[in-house]
Amino acid sequence: IKIEIESNSYKKIKSGIKNIIAIASGKGGVGKSTVATNIAVSLVQMGFHVGLLDADIYGPSIPLMFNIKEESVKLQHQNGMMNPITSYGVKIISIGFFSKYGQAIVWRGPMVTKVLRQFLYETNWGELDFLIVDFPPGTGDIHLSLLQEISLKGVVIVSTSQKIALSDVNRSVGMFRIGSIYVPILGIIENMSYVISKETKKKCYFFGKNGVKNFSKEMNIFFIGEIPMLQTIREYSDLGIPIVLENKKISNLFINITKNMIK
Ligand code: ADP
Repeated sequence: IKIEIESNSYKKIKSGIKNIIAIASGKGGVGKSTVATNIAVSLVQMGFHVGLLDADIYGPSIPLMFNIKEESVKLQHQNGMMNPITSYGVKIISIGFFSKYGQAIVWRGPMVTKVLRQFLYETNWGELDFLIVDFPPGTGDIHLSLLQEISLKGVVIVSTSQKIALSDVNRSVGMFRIGSIYVPILGIIENMSYVISKETKKKCYFFGKNGVKNFSKEMNIFFIGEIPMLQTIREYSDLGIPIVLENKKISNLFINITKNMIK
């Protein structure tokens, strides 16, 4: 199948936004939004001005991760543009702010593209050092729209070491490396890399050992770092509090990962 995609020559970076970085995964459920959330807050902790665009239109989880109750959101407008909602220092826009909790978004591609354009160009982002874009999983309409529309500094991939997750990542890498929509892959993060057994205190490589590391070598992708599977990460994400604000050790881990990602 020949994929016809317009040239990326018209890609425009928004004035005022210095770097746009996408966080992507192959499969859903690997922790992409959790990682995007904690990277965004780590960047704030490092003193940067940060925005987070939730491009996961069909499954927005950013509002929950930042404890923003959809029904309480009243978006303000200024000069005909939307003001993002600021939480923990991060300026956020998500389709979740426009839908009721649990309401399904059943839209065709063109509608989604229109909304993403509004998120990008009709939002008062102001001056940002980084705009983090939380991509949906997979390789679909939303990816194509975003990759054609914005000039990304690069994409960061999140995966577990599980074979099925990596086979999906492989497809995503293929998409990012298509000539006409080429985007640099800044690196890959292994999430949920191991669990520490309560009894033996030993690391248990639940999704397999070294899967992401080996894949990154094979594909010539920089290995950014690994995040263990920790109950506290899950608990704080359910509470809507980014774990990096509560746990010094995990915060240091995320700061290192973030530094590796932007270097
Ligand atoms: P995705 O965006 O890839 O669909 P999420 O970020 O929504 O995945 O994460 C899926 C679930 O896994 C969430 O409940 C989240 O709290 C949990 N989770 C993510 N990363 C970790 C981790 N390192 N340790 C424990 N739980 C995690």
